[in-house]
Amino acid sequence: MSTFADTFFKLNPDSLSLRLYSATATDVERALRNPAGDLSSLMALLSPAAMAYLEPMAQQAAAITRQRFGANVGLFVPLYVSNLCANECDYCGFSMSNKVKRKTLNQDELIQEIAIIKARGFDSVLLVSGEHETKVGPSYFEAIMPMVKAHFNHVAIEIQPLETPEYQRLAKLGVDAVMVYQETYRTQTYAKHHTRGKKQDFINRLTTPDRVAKAGIDKIGLGVLLGLDDWRLDALLMAHHLDYLEKNYWRCRYSISLPRLRPCTGGIKPKVELSDAGLVQMICAFRLFNPQLEISLSTRELPHLRDNLLPLGITHISAGSSTQPGGYQHPQTELDQFEISDERSVDQVVLALKHRGFNPLWKDWEGAWLTS
Ligand code: SF4
Repeated sequence: MSTFADTFFKLNPDSLSLRLYSATATDVERALRNPAGDLSSLMALLSPAAMAYLEPMAQQAAAITRQRFGANVGLFVPLYVSNLCANECDYCGFSMSNKVKRKTLNQDELIQEIAIIKARGFDSVLLVSGEHETKVGPSYFEAIMPMVKAHFNHVAIEIQPLETPEYQRLAKLGVDAVMVYQETYRTQTYAKHHTRGKKQDFINRLTTPDRVAKAGIDKIGLGVLLGLDDWRLDALLMAHHLDYLEKNYWRCRYSISLPRLRPCTGGIKPKVELSDAGLVQMICAFRLFNPQLEISLSTRELPHLRDNLLPLGITHISAGSSTQPGGYQHPQTELDQFEISDERSVDQVVLALKHRGFNPLWKDWEGAWLTS
């Protein structure tokens, strides 16, 4: 059965990189006239040459976003259920060899976390865990899903890659979306940063969205960890992935996340810094390439930057986040996966959204429609 791996290994990243870095102003101007659905146009918009066109890109991206999504910004909250992990990723505080206290929420603790985030108004939750097959594998999520689904209309998961039948079981229990970030599409860089555990298997991760789509899950989230390698090329390769998925699994919805590498316990420094202007360029380029695409921004970014990026193409943001299991009930930083930059409360984020004319959306999904 074909997967994105067949397409990916026919791409030549070095030649794509050459074309990306040799794009001219004329290429960018042509791309701005015809940006949607065209990978060549996206390449020009991600190129260094496009930095001189940030203003027209931003204006066009903001107009498309407003036309497609109105003033709505979806709010979601991550709920970390475990920091156990059997992988070694040198940019992550949960890495197996890091001497941090490990914790997996039991059902009582989970209920307490749910009660806190429900009281803050959330109806969309992202369950996050480290990758530990035996302790937080599919059976853990199958056990907790009924409890989680009883409180949230929209449930997304960011957990270890699974097989299609496992995703099918979770879909039946109410999982609406799966986030699976490739981290980097450069194979050598991937091997350098993933040195132990199942996550070393680049192809298994690369083909996970195929398995998610085949299981009939509604939404798939892609992402690269910006800073591990050249962000322009990684973004372009992610766009190839998105393009393949949209063409092959057209029933699914897609989102991307654009996390910049953040400090964490025992973590590394970015190889390639992505500036704020670069982040603007990337958001605008993806919005122009794909007007339907959901783009989410986490609390890794500073408040003023998050607020200013919103109109350009962001459709979903997290707020009041904790990146540790049990962190809503017992805030402490030593278990964090990474440092948070936007530490505003949920109320403060909502107020800032309204102040800028946005409509904070707690709920944009009604599970009952599917079963009626
Ligand atoms: S990035 Fe994920 S898989 Fe890697 S150490 Fe962190 S939690 Fe584990």
